Amino acid sequence: MSAHGFSKLVYSTESGRVCPDCKQAVDACACAQTKKSAVLGNGQVKVARQTKGRGGKCVTVVTGVALDAEALGALGKQLRSRCGAGGTVKDGVIEIQGDHCEVVLQALLQAGHAAKRSGG
Ligand SMILES: [Zn+2]
Repeated sequence: MSAHGFSKLVYSTESGRVCPDCKQAVDACACAQTKKSAVLGNGQVKVARQTKGRGGKCVTVVTGVALDAEALGALGKQLRSRCGAGGTVKDGVIEIQGDHCEVVLQALLQAGHAAKRSGG
């Protein structure tokens, strides 16, 4: 197999820089937009309580929500304020400190997500 020398080339046009992903002029490129609005979950929303590997501390974990990163972050914020607890949103997973499965489940259902309890 020979190396693909073309991939080493720096692409450019008269109008300026070219996106390395889509080869469109940066001005016309939609990659950043697409990435930003990429839906993270598969829509099979699961609410689970996790204690393993957390020094006995309990967290409520929400996975599978079919939202993009920005909307998921906003949802995480809503859920945290609803529960009055801290937490994070990372890699498409919402974590809320403490056992708030019922509250989170109801909040998700009210927001139109077909959420289900998962595990214990
Ligand atoms: Zn692009």
